[in-house]
Formats: sequence, structure tokens, C-alpha cells
Amino acid sequence: MKPAAFAYLAPSSVEEAVDRLAEHGPDARVLAGGQSLVRLMNTRLATPSVVVDVNRIPDLDHIGADNGTVHVGAIARQRSCELAPLVRSRVPLFAEACSQVAHVSVRKRGTVVGSVAFADPCAELPAALLALDGQVVARSRAGERVIDADDFFVGPFENSLAPDEFAVELRIPVTAVERTGSAFVEVSRRHGDLPMCGASTVVQLDEDGAVANARIALCGVGQRPMRARDTEDLLLGQRPADELLAQAAELTAAATDPIGDCHASAAFRRHLARVLTRRSLQTAVARARKEDTDA
Ligand SMILES: Cc1cc2nc3c(=O)[nH]c(=O)nc-3n(C[C@H](O)[C@H](O)[C@H](O)COP(=O)(O)OP(=O)(O)OC[C@H]3O[C@@H](n4cnc5c(N)ncnc54)[C@H](O)[C@@H]3O)c2cc1C
Repeated sequence: MKPAAFAYLAPSSVEEAVDRLAEHGPDARVLAGGQSLVRLMNTRLATPSVVVDVNRIPDLDHIGADNGTVHVGAIARQRSCELAPLVRSRVPLFAEACSQVAHVSVRKRGTVVGSVAFADPCAELPAALLALDGQVVARSRAGERVIDADDFFVGPFENSLAPDEFAVELRIPVTAVERTGSAFVEVSRRHGDLPMCGASTVVQLDEDGAVANARIALCGVGQRPMRARDTEDLLLGQRPADELLAQAAELTAAATDPIGDCHASAAFRRHLARVLTRRSLQTAVARARKEDTDA
């Protein structure tokens, strides 16, 4: 199939982009890497009358850091984030999640912000952003709005951006601090497929080896990425022994609300949530202790 007819606009500044979005409202869609939008348009699951291509706006491909925060611009590619030394060293969970999105060829075009904006409940990057307490910076004619990841993901393929808002940047607090480890693990049917379930975990230990801070988010187990807050509370102040991690995995699985589909039944997704929560916790704890996790 071919896409329905649409007008193609290529603004050269953020101001021009938000003007175009304000003029066309819900009839317009931002085009970033096109790895999801073009497929939807070709199958006519999306029929925007205006496409606002943001790829020609200068300086939106930045990956930088200041004051303990990593910044990722709207057209920074998933592959660039995966390989950027700054991301790998300061928010290794995010680089690890990027490395598991699709295939290299898709990651070279697909943007990090586009994946977050697309809000696929099975996608890796929304769950990673949620576990990292990241934020989305939105711009419109009215100015700038900073949205916590927890408030950004509304439902399947639905985010909290208004039609005239454009996500210009992600902000991700640095996790590379003492005694902190993280891990992103997933299971998909084939290499490069969207995961049936994925678990992203950040664990900080105190000087005695007990959990000082834990953040866990899953994809593929509900209408939006899920933060496992009860599990985080359970872990706080406890030594992360195997029995505790098994208990944490049970609690997380019980909190999921998965939907069965052609890729996996609801029961299998819940089973994966249990297995992957435990696995991601074990790896994150081992990394926090600086144990060899590649063995
Ligand atoms: C073969 C294949 C395999 C894939 N496997 C995976 C996978 O395993 N995991 C995974 O997560 N994804 C997967 N994807 C999807 C891929 O990661 C996309 O790159 C991603 O979902 C969207 O990023 P994009 O830059 O291509 O966005 P686009 O396709 O350009 O846009 C996607 C949506 O987000 C909106 N949008 C984009 N940028 C912005 C912005 N800055 N502000 C506001 N709205 C915006 C668009 O309007 C559109 O609605 C796969 C895609 C393909 C083709």
C-alpha cells in the first residue's frame, strides 16, 4: 500500500516546527527516524495530512551532560546513544537498552526520543527511561514543559504531549555513582523483535551491602511501561540475598497486568516478568558489587 496523500514540511528551527504543529494541530505528525511512523502511514494505520520532518533542525542530535544529567536531543539516533562513551559510562542502563532495540540498521535511523514518543508498551526505551527517573522536555509556542517519565506514558501508543508540542530532548539523571549497578534484560521471539517482556533495574547498595535505592521498570506487561514501586519498597534496607530477589520477582509478576496476543499469552508474559525481574536484579547487584557479570 501507499500512504494517503500528505503535505511534507521540513522546518529549519524548533520555533518553526512548533509553529507548524500549532497551525495543523492533530492533523500533523512529527517525523523523526520514520521507523514506526512510515510503516504506519504505508499501511494507513496513520493518515496525517501534514508530516513535520524535524531532521533538518540543527543541533537536535546532541548527546551531552551537565550537573549530573545526560541530555539526548530529538534526532539523536538509538545507535549513537548505544555507542556514546558518555551514555555508556554515566547511564549504562540506557546504552544497554538501546543496544537491544531492533537491528543495527533500524537503530541507525530510529531516534531515542521517537521511540519514547511512540510509547509502545513493549518497547525497551520507555521502560529504561522510567527506571532511570528520566524526563521529556517538550516545546510549544507557549514555551517549555518538562514531563516526568511516569507522567509521560499514558497508554498504548499514547503520550501526554499536546498536539502542538514537540519533544526536543530527554533528560536522564546520571546513575554512575558509588556502589550502583544496573541491567536491562529482555526476551523476544527472534533477535531484533520487540520484546515479549523486558526488565530494567538500577540498584544502589549502602556501605554494608544493603539496598539503599532500587528502581525497576518493565515493558510488555501492561498498557504502558510499568514501574514496580512495591518491589522497590520491599528491597529497601535489605541485603539482596537470593531469597529476597525471588520474593521481589514474585511481587513484581503479581503486579503486572499483561495482555495476551499472537506473540505471547498473558500467563507467559507474567512468567517472563518474574524471571526477568530476578535476572535483572541479580545482574544489577553483581555490577554494584563490581563482580564479573560476563561469566
Ligand atoms: C524491523 C523493525 C524492528 C523494530 N524493533 C523494535 C524493537 O525491538 N524495540 C523497539 O522499541 N522498537 C522497535 N522498532 C521501532 C523503532 O525503534 C523506531 O525507531 C521507534 O519506535 C520510533 O523512532 P523513530 O525515530 O523512527 O520515530 P518515528 O517513526 O519518526 O515516529 C514515531 C512516532 O513518534 C512521534 N515522534 C517522533 N519524534 C517525536 C518528537 N521529537 N516529538 C513528538 N513526537 C515525536 C511521531 O510523530 C510518530 O507518531 C522496530 C522497527 C522496525 C522497522
